[in-house]
Amino acid sequence: MTADVSRNEIAKQQALRMRRVLLASISYLFTLTLVAIFCWLGYFGVPVLINYFLAVLALNLVFCLAIRTNLNLRFADPSMTLVQICASILPGLYVMYHAQQPRTVFLLLCISAAMYGLFQFRPRDFVIMTLAIVGGYASLIALVYLNRPGEITLQVEILQLFAVFATFIQFSGLGIYIAGLRTKVKDKHKELAARNGELETALARIEELAMRDELTGVFNRRYLMESIRNEKLRCERSGGVFSICILDVDWFKQVNDTHGHLAGDQILQAIARCGQGALRQSDLFGRYGGEEFVMVLTSTMVEGAMITAERLRARIEALTFPAIDPQLRVTVSIGIAESRAFEDTALTFKRADEALYRAKQAGRNRSVIAAPAQPSEALA
Ligand code: GH3
Ligand code: MG
Ligand code: MG
Repeated sequence: MTADVSRNEIAKQQALRMRRVLLASISYLFTLTLVAIFCWLGYFGVPVLINYFLAVLALNLVFCLAIRTNLNLRFADPSMTLVQICASILPGLYVMYHAQQPRTVFLLLCISAAMYGLFQFRPRDFVIMTLAIVGGYASLIALVYLNRPGEITLQVEILQLFAVFATFIQFSGLGIYIAGLRTKVKDKHKELAARNGELETALARIEELAMRDELTGVFNRRYLMESIRNEKLRCERSGGVFSICILDVDWFKQVNDTHGHLAGDQILQAIARCGQGALRQSDLFGRYGGEEFVMVLTSTMVEGAMITAERLRARIEALTFPAIDPQLRVTVSIGIAESRAFEDTALTFKRADEALYRAKQAGRNRSVIAAPAQPSEALA
């Protein structure tokens, strides 16, 4: 799958490169017209024009072929911009060798070719391009001077060469500055992306903290109540039921008084771990406040809730606290109520609380089911 995606991406880039070469061919047409006009004006013979045309054609064919055969993908820069620019100077130099007076016109065309690299070259590329153009022009002057010394005024040519050099140094400076800006923008972009990632992590952490109880790490009261409201809505739509169990630690004040508040905290943490481990994935366990916990059992009627509650009660009863007191045992009393579609959650809670009260009254360490909801009472 990813191989397909990257292959598609490469094909797209290759098509773009091919279009660029074709575009460059069109700009060559403009230069070709210029060369033809100079030929017509008699600055050089028709063979120069034909050779120029053939050279340009050959260059473009080579680049098209390199892209068509994917040969360019083996280069560090598959766009071959630097090679294309340097190569495009050659036919120009050839015409300049044969045309004395219009030489500067073709020199200007070198600058227009160099423009293609302005926005994508690295500093090294600018140095290579400057050396290629200045070196090419210097060689041309040397060649003309050697073969036809009468045609050249060396002083003027050297000045001209110096001007070309200065122009390209400035051009490169501008390009390097643009490259620097581009790097800065990229770095900023990366920095922003990293900052964004950090913010997202922090936000996720905050969201997680906002639904957890600080001491025990189980869901807090706010999250429990929100989940119960959602569960209620779900049941109203589907006609299902769910059960609420309220757990209250027995004689907890006494535990605190005997072993200290810190020991009390550790016991609450142990009970929370126990409660969390005793439930199905779809159920919820949270701290309602103080030494009271709440279980929400989805799609569960009281009979099922009673079994879960009793299992948890037995597990809590079996907990030992060797670090506090090896003899210490804690128990919980549990009130259970089943929520019905017509009943408000506050009423379900009230019934569970009443059941808890009865569990306490009956001697603690037990689970008691609340009286079923009465539709008339609920409506009242
Ligand atoms: P009962 O069996 O009737 O529930 O007796 P109880 O002692 O548990 O009931 P009571 O409501 O009188 O006491 C609850 C105690 O829970 C009082 C308080 O000190 C303690 N408690 C509440 N929150 C915390 C807490 O976060 N940490 C600790 N260590 N104790 C707490
Ligand atoms: Mg209590
Ligand atoms: Mg208590």
